[in-house]
Amino acid sequence: MDRNISSPQESRSCPRCQGGLLRLEYRTHFTWLNDDMITVPDFPTWVCDTCGYKEEDERAQRWLSILLNPSLGKPVHKENHKPRRRPPASPQNNGAR
Ligand SMILES: [Zn+2]
Repeated sequence: MDRNISSPQESRSCPRCQGGLLRLEYRTHFTWLNDDMITVPDFPTWVCDTCGYKEEDERAQRWLSILLNPSLGKPVHKENHKPRRRPPASPQNNGAR
């Protein structure tokens, strides 16, 4: 089942079994941000076709760590992240009846 890949990826030899080739696949990546599990769909991952060794793409990992780093200056809307913790009826209610 060969997919038609327009741009050929450079193949890398597997660091574990030395004989296999790492091929770039897009898989769902799981990571943790504090107590929240985050799933990243279509995360580039190098997979060995011989022993099944997996290695996340370095550039994608760096990109992900930047995304998940809350100390980079961008405010993270934590309330949006946790649907269970809704604040009780706020006094500032735009009550349009
Ligand atoms: Zn291997």
